[in-house]
Formats: sequence, structure tokens, C-alpha cells
Amino acid sequence: MSARPGVIVTMDGPAGTGKSSVAWNLAQRLGLEVLDTGAMYRAAAVVAIDEGVAADDGAALAARIAEEGLAFDWSSRPPRMLLGGRDLTERIRDADVNVVVSVVARQAALRAALVEAQRVIGRAHPRLVTEGRDQGSVVFPDAQVRLYLDAHPEVRARRRVEQMRSQGRPADYEAVLRAIQQRDHLDETRTDGPLVCPQGAVRVDTSGLSLDQVVGELERIVRASVPAERLAPPRAAQPA
Ligand code: C5P
Repeated sequence: MSARPGVIVTMDGPAGTGKSSVAWNLAQRLGLEVLDTGAMYRAAAVVAIDEGVAADDGAALAARIAEEGLAFDWSSRPPRMLLGGRDLTERIRDADVNVVVSVVARQAALRAALVEAQRVIGRAHPRLVTEGRDQGSVVFPDAQVRLYLDAHPEVRARRRVEQMRSQGRPADYEAVLRAIQQRDHLDETRTDGPLVCPQGAVRVDTSGLSLDQVVGELERIVRASVPAERLAPPRAAQPA
């Protein structure tokens, strides 16, 4: 762990804005670690599916997770998602998890447990880009920089379809678009930790931008508000 002082950058926004790739690239440029909070909700969905816990029983899901121990393996990049002895890193990306995760993420008792777990991680790893839906609004409202990524649903659906096809998975644009709109609706309308643009957050519409353009823009925003000595030097100044 670096002796540099802490920097928390929150990054919220709906599915398909390229948040994960953006977070990784941005963190690399700034010398920060990444916390993927969606992976934690996905792990809870796996508990519901694989262990037969009701997806709408937040207390039972939280208890099961506490019992088994949900943790990231920070020695790998990106960190692997572990539940007890089980490595869930690949399992959490399966299609059945996509369907159940929004139900699981609406449960207040589960959210309370994961919010607390995320704050504990923030104390142990205080130099973080943390991405999710509620990182700037609920989990780290005092973060030095709060970012909100957005993009038109049609653009997000197209990106998701391209990503799935590049992985050799079949993808139907209309079905993907409907799923994205449905997930947005569920994320935005839940009473606990809904998807909102946090107060004081910088909102960036990624619709017409490439990954590199988005990362460059966010890097500029972060460097403008965090003292240089807290961050890795800009690329041009870094040794080749
Ligand atoms: O970002 P990702 O698509 O992996 O997130 C999966 C789901 O987890 C989201 O659809 C959302 O319902 C939920 N989530 C959440 N709060 C977070 C991160 C993810 O509710 N901080």
C-alpha cells in the first residue's frame, strides 16, 4: 500500500456507459485502485440463485454473505470476487445474474450491509476509484471528486451488443435495449440508494465519445481538483 494520502473518486451511472473500462483506465492513469461495487451486488444475486435464498429477503442474503465472507482478492488486477472458498469472478457475469441482481439490489437490509462493507474497503484502500450507483450519493458523499457517467439508452444497448458479440455470445439489440431500460427503471425507482446524479457531481455524457476521450476528460476533471502530489504524474511526465 502506498504511503500517499487518500483520494476517493466516485463514479456512478447506469449500465452500459462503459463505467468499468473507464474506471480501470482512469485509475491506472491516476495511480489508484478500483472498487467494483456492482460485483458485490452480483455476488449477492449468485447467493440467491445458487444457494436458494429468496432474492427479496435482504436480511437473509446479508446474513449468508456475512457467514460465508465476501471479499476481493486485491493481489490480482482486477481484484477477484470471492465468497467463502468460492471464486465468483466469472459466475457473476452470467445472464441469470443480470436478471436477479436488480431485485436483490432493492433490498434495504442487503444494501445497508454492502454500503458498510464498501466503507470498510475504503478505509483499507483509501486511494480508490469506486464505481456503482450510489457511491457519491450514499457511500462516499465526502469523496474529493464525484463523477456521473451517462449515455443514451440506444448507445448503451449498441455498446453492450458489440461487447457480447466480441465475446462470441449471441445478442439481440431490441432485447438488450429493453433489458437496459428495465434495469434503469428498477435502479432509479428503488427507495434505498436509487441511481441519481449526486450533488456536486460532474456529469459526463459519453454517447458520442470514445473510451479514450472519456478517460482523458475525467482525468482532466480529477487533476483539476486534487493536488498533484496525491496522484501519479500525468502520462507525458511518466517514464516510458
Ligand atoms: O454495475 P453492474 O452492472 O455490475 O451492477 C449490477 C447491478 O447492481 C446494477 O444493475 C444495480 O442494480 C446494482 N448496483 C447497485 N448499487 C451499486 C452497484 C450496483 O444497486 N453501488
